[in-house]
Amino acid sequence: MIVVIKRTATPEQTQDIVDKIVAMGYAVNVSQGAERLIIGVLGVRENKDMLAAQLGGFAAVERVMPVSKSYKLVSREGTQTDTVVRVGQAVEIGGGLVHVIAGPCTVEGRDMLVETAHWVKRCGATLLRGGAYKPSTSPYSFQGMGKEGLEILAEARAQTGLPIVTEVLDPRDMEIVHQYADVLQIGARNMQNFNLLKEVAKARKPVMLKRGLSATIEEWLLAAEYIYSGGNHDVILCERGIRTFETSTRNTLDLSAVPVVKALTHLPIIVDPSHGTGKWDLVTPMARAGVAAGADGVMIEVHPKPGDALKDGFESLTFERFAAMMEQVRPVARAVGRPVASDASITIEA
Ligand code: PEP
Ligand code: MN
Repeated sequence: MIVVIKRTATPEQTQDIVDKIVAMGYAVNVSQGAERLIIGVLGVRENKDMLAAQLGGFAAVERVMPVSKSYKLVSREGTQTDTVVRVGQAVEIGGGLVHVIAGPCTVEGRDMLVETAHWVKRCGATLLRGGAYKPSTSPYSFQGMGKEGLEILAEARAQTGLPIVTEVLDPRDMEIVHQYADVLQIGARNMQNFNLLKEVAKARKPVMLKRGLSATIEEWLLAAEYIYSGGNHDVILCERGIRTFETSTRNTLDLSAVPVVKALTHLPIIVDPSHGTGKWDLVTPMARAGVAAGADGVMIEVHPKPGDALKDGFESLTFERFAAMMEQVRPVARAVGRPVASDASITIEA
């Protein structure tokens, strides 16, 4: 059961409600977000209606909602209205417009990143991606530029105004990544790194939570619940493909996850067709399909010279191919009634 506390409530009123719930024998989770405070009441099995009526009687309570799902706070059962995640001043993810997040897999140097940032902005991207701390399957492959990579991302942001999406790989890197990032990315391999989830839950920056390689949607939403219940309500989900028996693609991009997730949770969802397919020539059709399926955005890997990329060059679009992709995504976005954000809001300089 979820109890939403009025914005006008005093800490004493809230504490009084918590104490009463605990005295009744239930466990509580108090989630203080930037916008509102929510109390999750755990272990309610009987007399649900009576308890709901009782809690609804408190002056400080805005709403009481019974939730049967294992993930409570992120469940659509509890909150029907879509969560809109604000990034910086201009970007609202989940607000009905399609956002394109673009950039290289990995920050490889200043020139390539700044050049890519200008190009993707010119084409209509509204956020810049790029890893400075990289999760690598092989210990021998490039692990990212670390702090220097973050500084380069900040320079690209200063020049283009594009907010930065970058991965935090380890709780020990939180402080430094938090200083630079606008959106903290949790990679697929870390979806169930619960200590890391608890750490980003304390951050006052939005989190993009990628689906684990072999995670069910329920496990993914429970991971989101860790972040939300820990106090960070700005969670964006990202479908990036899952492991299946199919070997024609790097992963199987589960686009049915988009409407499933939309039905189960109020959180926004982004589709990543780059990691989802692992092949550059499949990225554009699956980006179109992701938008058609109702995603709030797509995340695309773009590199000035994919053939020379240190990571994921095989799935990265050239500048020309990215520009062509945008032209194909635009009419699809308009057709489903949620235009590409840059067309609707920001004027793109040449
Ligand atoms: C990435 O976005 O570069 C990345 C490593 O993605 P994933 O965690 O989905 O593999
Ligand atoms: Mn990558």
